[in-house]
Amino acid sequence: MANVADTKLYDILGVPPGATDNELKKAYRKLAKEYHPDKNPNAGDKFKEISFAYEVLSNPEKRELYDRYGEQGLREGSGGSGGMDDIFSHIFGGGLFSFMGNQSRSRNGRRRGEDMMHPLKVSLEDLYNGKTTKLQLSKNVLCSSCNGQGGKSGAVQKCSACRGRGVRIMIRQLAPGMVQQMQSVCSDCNGEGEVINEKDRCKKCEGKKVIKEVKILEVHVDKGMKHGQRITFTGEADQAPGVEPGDIVLLLQEKENEVFQREGNDLHMTHKIGLVEALCGFQFTFKHLDGRQIVVKYPPGKVIEPGCVRVVRGEGMPQYRNPFEKGDLYIKFDVQFPENNWISPEKLSELEDLLPSRPEVPPVIGDTEEVDLQEFDNTRGSGGGQRREAYNDSSDEESTHHGPGVQCAHQ
Ligand SMILES: [Zn+2]
Ligand SMILES: [Zn+2]
Repeated sequence: MANVADTKLYDILGVPPGATDNELKKAYRKLAKEYHPDKNPNAGDKFKEISFAYEVLSNPEKRELYDRYGEQGLREGSGGSGGMDDIFSHIFGGGLFSFMGNQSRSRNGRRRGEDMMHPLKVSLEDLYNGKTTKLQLSKNVLCSSCNGQGGKSGAVQKCSACRGRGVRIMIRQLAPGMVQQMQSVCSDCNGEGEVINEKDRCKKCEGKKVIKEVKILEVHVDKGMKHGQRITFTGEADQAPGVEPGDIVLLLQEKENEVFQREGNDLHMTHKIGLVEALCGFQFTFKHLDGRQIVVKYPPGKVIEPGCVRVVRGEGMPQYRNPFEKGDLYIKFDVQFPENNWISPEKLSELEDLLPSRPEVPPVIGDTEEVDLQEFDNTRGSGGGQRREAYNDSSDEESTHHGPGVQCAHQ
């Protein structure tokens, strides 16, 4: 806690600490007008400071906290509302060493360490059935031998080179009357602000204050979890002295499945059938993600058109946190037609008698011209013309292009 009364917020508004509400309001109005971003676009921070100071001092509760306990009182009383950190560090200097990077301040004002993100690959089976898995990782923990001090108590000395600030300010003269101020990390203490004599260093951690430790986390992948979902282990990231450890965050990465594609809680699969099945009904079996053998029946008399989709309700993925409710399973049918000349011409006419009859061809009047209908490979494009040009950007269109044309070619 500050020994000297903290008057920074009053200073910002240019009023004495005992100022009345009226005096505060007057001072605020005058300054806010002067530094408003509309008028003074380069003074954005100044305007924020003024607004913040007035916001605190015009609120009797906050003002009392500040008068009594200074900056610290506000930090603890504020509950860490959004955006406060920035202003805080701007006014009270915490942000001076912002090269420290991703560290943010936690609710209790301690610096917070970085979160550690790990990808975790999981199969679709794991996401369907749920799974508990162990994850081994190495992390920094405070050295137990020196309690994270780096040496015996008293061995830690303030770095004299930077006076404990961790940074050194260098002033360079560029030209007479023009100087450049540069800030660099102190090389004597590596920015720590303190040093330990070699002989006083903790033997276990060699003065580093932390040691590497192998940690095993038990990870519960719940039924129905999704690709990209996070599993968080609060405060399990690297420990460091005076820093609240960040979280370990596991990011689920769903592996591709050979049979099923997932879309939310629904599953999609493709099944190949022959022409006879498409016309005369069928039955087939597949193995579901939980190992069940599922029998799919389709009665004679019902027709499957090539490329059509049928649905099995309730055989999709379980819902996360409600695993007895499941999505649906969509089956797309790939109908395999017979090869050319698969049947003799005589049999063909027998077949024709069985099939629905042809539409009647209207009589031809006038001149006609007969043309050849040839086969072509749909995956190679239509051979010149606009279609080809449309894919000119892609250097290897044949291997990467999976447009609708590819599916037709299989039929
Ligand atoms: Zn130690
Ligand atoms: Zn130093």
